[in-house]
Amino acid sequence: MIRSLSISLVFVCILSAAPGTAETRRYTETKYPIVLAHGMAGFDELFGIFDYWHGIPAALRSGGAEVFVTEVSQFNQTEVRGEQLLAQVEEIVAITGKAKVHLIGHSHGGLDIRYVAAVRPDLVASVTAVGSPHKGAELADFLRSNVSDGSFTETVLRFFAESLGTVLALLSGTSNPQDAVAALDSLTTDGASAFNAAFPQGLPATRCGNGPAVVDGVYYFSWSGTRTLTNLFDISDGSLALTSLVYDEDNDGLVGRCSSHLGKVIRDNYRQNHLDQVNQIFGLVHLFSSKPKSIFRAHANRLRNLGL
Ligand code: CA
Repeated sequence: MIRSLSISLVFVCILSAAPGTAETRRYTETKYPIVLAHGMAGFDELFGIFDYWHGIPAALRSGGAEVFVTEVSQFNQTEVRGEQLLAQVEEIVAITGKAKVHLIGHSHGGLDIRYVAAVRPDLVASVTAVGSPHKGAELADFLRSNVSDGSFTETVLRFFAESLGTVLALLSGTSNPQDAVAALDSLTTDGASAFNAAFPQGLPATRCGNGPAVVDGVYYFSWSGTRTLTNLFDISDGSLALTSLVYDEDNDGLVGRCSSHLGKVIRDNYRQNHLDQVNQIFGLVHLFSSKPKSIFRAHANRLRNLGL
């Protein structure tokens, strides 16, 4: 009798402990697949080993999320990249049999996903922009004002950027068309405002406010950082510190704090620079701030808790 009671107690203990463990295992298990969309000069992976989203897909998958990493033209206009992304989203929906996807875009990718959600809101559960220049990037304005149409410098810029784009595409096994000048024009203040006029979904009504949380049934979120020098060992920090000098507001080296706002702003001042946001280079980020992988995992859990 005592023995069977103690066995029952053991079972009760196991059963009561189980939900917590199971919940941890399912922490990022969203109803819809998560689709990651890279920024300018981005890719899915190079040589099959260097991931744009360093360690992030694995961190999301470890909690049960289904994750897809997409790839579009490294340098091109938002609408062109958006159309390429839409074709991949349609494919993902067909493969998984799920009705919708969660779109998470970094940098220029945050504009691409807005395009997809505006054109096909029925395929999108949520849009999350990480360090994206919704109001344009001062660096693009700076470059544009120093590189006039059809000039020698424009030809040089086009040659170098498009060569880089072609090589990155080649190394990652794709061959999407490159147009560096169209890419630059998409990211200037004028280019962004033309895009915003056509696709205003999720944008804040005031310069630095929150946007609407839900538009056409799609949830909108954003986050960004405001540091440039975050890790002594990361060789990319110096360049971001340099580019940050052309900005007159807090920025991550490439995107201003207020320009990053879309939908519900989760946080706009992480101690992260533009590359830290995707856990680069090779995970070299600020030692004492929220880790990029944890931020992505917490966001997947937020989507899960919304029943999405
Ligand atoms: Ca870094």
